[in-house]
Amino acid sequence: MNIEFIDLRRQYESIKEDINRAVAEVIRGGHFIMGENVTRLEEEFAQYVGARYAVAVASGTDALQLSLMAVGVGPGDEVITTPFTFVATAEVIALLGAKPVFVDIDPRTYCINPAQIEGAITRRTKAIIPVHLYGQPADMESILKIAQKYDLKVIEDAAQAHGAKCYFPESGEWKAVGRIGHLAAFSFFPSKNLGAYGDGGMITTDEEELAEKLRMIRVHGSEAKYRHKILGLNSRLDELQAAVLRVKLPHLEQWNQKRRKNAAQYNNLLDSLEVITPFCAPGREHVYHQYSIRVKQRDYLRKQLHQQGIPTAVHYPIPLHRQEAFAYLGYKEGDLPVSEQTARQILSLPMSPELEAEGIEYIARKIAEALETAGSKRAGA
Ligand SMILES: *Cc1c(COP(=O)(O)O)cnc(C)c1O
Repeated sequence: MNIEFIDLRRQYESIKEDINRAVAEVIRGGHFIMGENVTRLEEEFAQYVGARYAVAVASGTDALQLSLMAVGVGPGDEVITTPFTFVATAEVIALLGAKPVFVDIDPRTYCINPAQIEGAITRRTKAIIPVHLYGQPADMESILKIAQKYDLKVIEDAAQAHGAKCYFPESGEWKAVGRIGHLAAFSFFPSKNLGAYGDGGMITTDEEELAEKLRMIRVHGSEAKYRHKILGLNSRLDELQAAVLRVKLPHLEQWNQKRRKNAAQYNNLLDSLEVITPFCAPGREHVYHQYSIRVKQRDYLRKQLHQQGIPTAVHYPIPLHRQEAFAYLGYKEGDLPVSEQTARQILSLPMSPELEAEGIEYIARKIAEALETAGSKRAGA
C-alpha cells in the first residue's frame, strides 16, 4: 500500500479548476505584489479567525518576527517560550537581540506548561510565545492570567493551528486561536493545515495600532512610498500565493474536520497498543496538524514502518535548548526533562485530510505487528 505523509497532489486534484483559474487571473492581471488578492485574503482570514485585523506577510517565521518588532522587543528583553517547537519560534527572539527563555512542556499536551512560567519571569521579560503544538491550543486561559498579572504581551505561535479553538469558561465562549493573545502568527508553508504553493504567513490582532505598525514594518517601515518612518523589512505575501490561499480557505473547516475524524480512527485502533495517543485537553478543539504518538522503541518502530512503505517524522528530535545554535544560552542536559524525554519518544504518523480509512487501518496494523516483535512496554509508564 502506498502511503504519503501528506498528500498535496491529491488535494490539488480536488480543487484544480479553481486554483488554475485563480492563478491564471493573477498572471493575466500583471499585478503581483500588494494587490486585491492580498487585501481580500486579509479580510477573509480575519473574519475566519474572528479577529479585527489580519496582516499578510512572507512566512510564518516573519509573522513571528514582525509581531515581536511590533511590540518593541529588542536587545536586553527576554521572551518566554517552549523549547519543544520548530526553531523559528525562538530564532526570531534571538535575531532581534532579545533572549529566549525556555520553560518546559506539559507532559500530556506537549505545549508550554503554564505552571512553570511565573518562575521564569524577570524584570526584563517582555512577552510570552505559546505554541499551539501539532494543532492543539496551549492552555491560553492560564497564560493570559499570568500575562495580565505581569503586563506581558502574548504572541500566539499558531503556525500549526489554523481553526483550532479554546473554551473560556468565564465568558462561556469558544475562541479561535488568533484572537486570544495580543498577536498571533500563522504560517502558510505548503504542508500546514492551510498551505500556499510557496511561503506565506499572516498575523492577526484586535489592536489597530499594532496592525498599522505591522503594515509599515512589512514594507520597509513606510506609510507612503519612499517615506520611511521606522526601520522595517521586505516581508510581503505575493498575489499568486494570496490567490491560492483564497481558493483554499473556504475548504479549511471541512479539511480540519477530516483530520479530526482521522485522528479519532487512529485513537480507536492504537489505544490498546503500547503507545500513548495524543491527549486533547478539555475545552480545546484540536486540528491535528500532526498526529504524534509517544512510544518507547521509537527509532525501531520508525525503521519497521519505513520498510513497510509508511513514512513517519519526528517533531522534534532535539529540543531548542539543546541545539548548537542556542548553546550560548547555557542550558544543560536535564534542565527541561519533559521536553527531552518527549523528543526521544515522539513519532508523527501520516496525517492529512486526504488520508483514507484503509490507509489508517494499514498503518495501525503495521504498528501493532512491529510492537509485537519489539515486545514493547508502555512509554513513560
Ligand atoms: C512552520 C512553523 C513556523 C515557521 O513557519 P514558516 O512559514 O515555515 O516560516 C513557526 N513555528 C511553528 C511552530 C511552525 O510549525
